[in-house]
Amino acid sequence: MNRILSIFYPRKCPYCSKSLKYDMTECIVCRAEFPKVPRIEALPTGEICIAPFTYNGAVRKAITEYKFKGKRFNRYSLAGAVAAAIKNVYNKDMSFELITCVPMSKDRKMERGFNQAELIARCVSELLEKPFEKLLYRDDGAALQHELTYKQRITAADNSFHVIAPDKVRGKKLLLIDDIMTTGTTLSRCSALLKDCGAERVFCASVAISREYDPHNKRSGQNNPN
Ligand SMILES: [Zn+2]
Repeated sequence: MNRILSIFYPRKCPYCSKSLKYDMTECIVCRAEFPKVPRIEALPTGEICIAPFTYNGAVRKAITEYKFKGKRFNRYSLAGAVAAAIKNVYNKDMSFELITCVPMSKDRKMERGFNQAELIARCVSELLEKPFEKLLYRDDGAALQHELTYKQRITAADNSFHVIAPDKVRGKKLLLIDDIMTTGTTLSRCSALLKDCGAERVFCASVAISREYDPHNKRSGQNNPN
């Protein structure tokens, strides 16, 4: 949103809804409350996922309104926090060459109008000055994750993700971004697929990790907000 537009559509802080000046992505009070240390969680397949936030409170509100209430401006703050967490954790090991995202099925994208993980990943790509590329797609037939049991989710995820162009993946170090990590199943499946296609390494990041995340606790993913 440019400066002129922001006069007609005043920006609000994604976390507390206070009005913002045109060049701010969140208010200084909320920014001061951002966690100083990112969360780092091991995925079931061994990669780690880093995230600036836990999925609760004001962050949960900001993400929910971004995804379901059309507040797309919120992505700038969320992506800014992801980029900062990546710099914080990976520091000098930011050797990934391409940034990509967990895909959304075409049906789902038509319904919502956008893939929330893709818009975040594109912002992170600009902030970290690394190219973004869509490397994965998802079958339209995939059932909605939150309608499935834990066991069904693993099976469904196994069959629904595909690599678009293996040539672009082979030998590459990739940063894979999702919006919320709940069970870690989706990021695990996508990174395993990318590695099966020859990716040298897959770094994973999300905006938030569910508060109860525990790879051995089957109840941790039941409130998946996808
Ligand atoms: Zn605020």
